[in-house]
Amino acid sequence: MNIRSTILKDMGKENRLAYQSDIRPMNSETFGKYIFSRELMQKMLPRDIYKNILNAMSGREKIKPEYADTIAVAIKEWALSHGATHYSHWFQPLTGASAEKHDAFIDWNTPDKVIEKFNGKQLLQGEPDASSFPSGGLRSTYEARGYTGWDPASPIFLWKAGDGITLCIPSVFFSWTGDVLDSKIPLLRSDRTIDQAALRLLKLTGISAHYVFSNLGLEQEYFVIDRALRNLRPDLVLLGKTVFGAPSPKGQELQDHYFGAVKDRILAFMQAFETSAIELGIPVKTRHNEVAPAQHEVAPVFEKATAAIDHNILLMELMRQTAQKHGLACLLHEKPFAGINGSGKHCNWSLSTDDGLNLLDPTDVPHNNLHFLILLTAILHAVYQHSALLRASIGSASNDYRLGGHEAPPAIVSVYLGQALESLLEEIENKGSSSSVASKVRYDLGLELPDLSKDNTDRNRTSPFAFTGNKFEFRALGSSANPAFAVTVLNLIVAESLNMLLDEIEANLNGDALQRSPERLTQAVMPVLQKYLKLSKGIRFMGDNYSEAWLKEAQKRGLPNIKRSPEAFLILSNPKTVKVFEKTLTEQELKSRQDILLEHYTHHMNIEANLILELFKTQILPAAIEYQTHLATSFLQIKDALAPHQFHSTKQAAYLKHFNDAIEEAMRKADELEKEKKEALSLPNTEKALRFSEQISHKMEGLREAVDRLETLVDDQLWPLPKYRELLFMV
Ligand code: ADP
Ligand code: MG
Repeated sequence: MNIRSTILKDMGKENRLAYQSDIRPMNSETFGKYIFSRELMQKMLPRDIYKNILNAMSGREKIKPEYADTIAVAIKEWALSHGATHYSHWFQPLTGASAEKHDAFIDWNTPDKVIEKFNGKQLLQGEPDASSFPSGGLRSTYEARGYTGWDPASPIFLWKAGDGITLCIPSVFFSWTGDVLDSKIPLLRSDRTIDQAALRLLKLTGISAHYVFSNLGLEQEYFVIDRALRNLRPDLVLLGKTVFGAPSPKGQELQDHYFGAVKDRILAFMQAFETSAIELGIPVKTRHNEVAPAQHEVAPVFEKATAAIDHNILLMELMRQTAQKHGLACLLHEKPFAGINGSGKHCNWSLSTDDGLNLLDPTDVPHNNLHFLILLTAILHAVYQHSALLRASIGSASNDYRLGGHEAPPAIVSVYLGQALESLLEEIENKGSSSSVASKVRYDLGLELPDLSKDNTDRNRTSPFAFTGNKFEFRALGSSANPAFAVTVLNLIVAESLNMLLDEIEANLNGDALQRSPERLTQAVMPVLQKYLKLSKGIRFMGDNYSEAWLKEAQKRGLPNIKRSPEAFLILSNPKTVKVFEKTLTEQELKSRQDILLEHYTHHMNIEANLILELFKTQILPAAIEYQTHLATSFLQIKDALAPHQFHSTKQAAYLKHFNDAIEEAMRKADELEKEKKEALSLPNTEKALRFSEQISHKMEGLREAVDRLETLVDDQLWPLPKYRELLFMV
């Protein structure tokens, strides 16, 4: 019996209830138990210092160096009281993952005298060796100096892993020369840019605010499967996806998984990682089964974008770790299984003021929608102008497998606004005036139920960028991605368009901006809205984004349809991109990011190609040949027993030939892939990534098809890899 069958046989026997030891309270008291919260700061620090930190948290003030030691002492005391032994600056280099280097609190005054030490200097700044982090050519290996600096916008937290507890200080990361080496600095800078543009807008429309920032609510999709089965699949272990796998006879066609009852074992896992998330101050709120079998979603309540992103990175890590404890594997890859839905990370994005006014909620300021209409027009224009850049911002090797696939938004970026807003914008385009956005309509279902309010928009699940009543949902981001780059781009392009519109509106006001009447302001605004709405009209689409008709229509409208990410990455060196990043990243820094993205793409695809070939040669082919040997032996016996003319007309003889052809076909495809890959590896960086994204991914697909066909032919007992039906349905 092969090892796959042994695991399947034993699955039910093992005590799967071991996870019950993981039950902990999850309530208002445990929320934020492991973060150095405002409440703690207020309790432990003098008033002036506390205020300084609060201002630093909203990006309006630096931490005063003279306060750093006092703050560090309070943090150390708190961390030690929870059993922390180490501290670490926690940052997000351009690897896409988070990074940490731990230092022990204990320090040696003399070789035999030990104390717990953590001071202001250690809190504010760290110095990891930057040479092994990607810099895209900005740094050479011998130029190692890089710094991390505390980013007070995100809370300091205690991270439990194994038996260790580490104090983590969210940080930014840059080189000795001041070059940006992480994903957070651009995000923080972009927030400042959108803040300035939005304050200009609010001032013009007579709304008061101190500052504006971007908010983010991230819906995280993922798959969970049994770990023992996953461990039998080197592709899942190394890549988090299956490179082979024939479709399960039952897939997602019955749609019985979506919002279905969550299985006990999965619920225990969800409960455990959510409990840990709550302790870390991550506001997880919603959980449910997704459309594909074994697919689920978790969504925290939205927060300031920087905090939401840090939390998302931590949440993904918690999910991976918790799954392991529960004998499960959490797959965050965008397309773990072919033929069923992939996983995204929907970015719900909005802008709000320090008073909590949501600039994208048309009903937030009654009788005054002008700021909303200007912002909306700016967003449409921004997405229209920079749709290729947005495509690049969500690009990765793994997301390429998802975009355009089952239920995934296509690679064409368009915006869905819903009927109410469409009518309103049409009115503006045609008449130069607007009625106010219809306030919420009530449904009458003819039943004795409480009134249900109708949102201003229906949903369009197929749109990559949809307005959903008081926020935009950017659905193209992949499940494994760090959302920082996408949000940075979004903030920057919207700020650019907003400033463009405001320049023209202010010009129309001829300088009498201060003593204008509402009518005068509307007069100045409307022609600008008309102009930009007409200009960007091509980006608006209400229909089915998955349809063939849309592909054609989008092409007619001149919207880019960039199927593969490397092609999209080239936009990073386009002058339009350089301009929009003006105050955020230099041309050189952008170029370095482009190089890193291209390089990563190639590495990912190359690993995948190597793995496919190895799996084929060492697992698939031996199994297929073994089965063929069985067939051949049995046929020889039949042949002996029958007259020659009788044997040749048997179905079995035809079957042997058919099976042999299938093996030959697979071997031929493997050779082609091998050859193509060898050629590609000798190409320069950009061409190499392009070649991997096109020809090689094509060849990989070809081999996959041939192997999947073999899977449906080979004796089930001989097949070494757990099958889709086992991976997807057996938890
Ligand atoms: P869906 O029904 O599409 O799953 P929800 O209304 O449940 O959407 O919200 C999805 C995510 O959007 C959640 O993380 C939620 O907190 C977030 N969200 C809600 N309002 C806003 C907003 N104004 N800005 C940003 N995100 C928001
Ligand atoms: Mg959702």
